Amino acid sequence: MTTPSLRLFFALPCPLELARAIADWRDALELDGKPVAAANLHLTLAFLGSQPRGRVDELKSLASACATGAFALRLDRLGCWRNGLLHLDASHPPEALLQLERQLRQALLGAGFEPERRPFHAHLTLARRCTRMPAGVIPTFDWLADRFSLFVSENSPKGTHYRTLADWPLRVSDTI
Ligand code: ATP
Ligand code: MG
Repeated sequence: MTTPSLRLFFALPCPLELARAIADWRDALELDGKPVAAANLHLTLAFLGSQPRGRVDELKSLASACATGAFALRLDRLGCWRNGLLHLDASHPPEALLQLERQLRQALLGAGFEPERRPFHAHLTLARRCTRMPAGVIPTFDWLADRFSLFVSENSPKGTHYRTLADWPLRVSDTI
């Protein structure tokens, strides 16, 4: 019998108040494309794809060993890739974010997972299938990242939903 699989990823969940502010700002730009719902805004740290349900405990335990302090992240650039993915990113990603991604990647590799090989480009997806970019738009959104989560990505007729399987605090007392 095969174990059911889950589509998994680690990410920083965007705090709801900030997510709403970002979504409102994006909507006011009146772009084309398919917007991401405010409740779904996140910054992916590691994408795992389809994994057996039985490996979730292992993922939880390796993530528990990854520790950085909370960090301030300023999203200050709007970009659109050739595939139409409209996103916010940071001109100066904080070292703690890069460190957290590296720790997770190493732990995943050590446990035999196959995380993304491409270099990490921290971004928050705002919309997909966009065909144009507004000129001269300079965003400034400040995010205090104080947790990261393991999500399962689920599809239903209502759209994609990310369900939190576990999350871990990034300690404010250790902020760098
Ligand atoms: P949907 O695919 O249903 O339109 P989605 O892309 O948000 O929505 P998933 O495909 O489950 O949902 O992806 C979850 C997260 O992982 C998203 O942040 C997505 O950008 C990222 N992701 C998906 N595929 C990859 C990949 N091959 N490499 C890196 N990150 C990925
Ligand atoms: Mg996808």
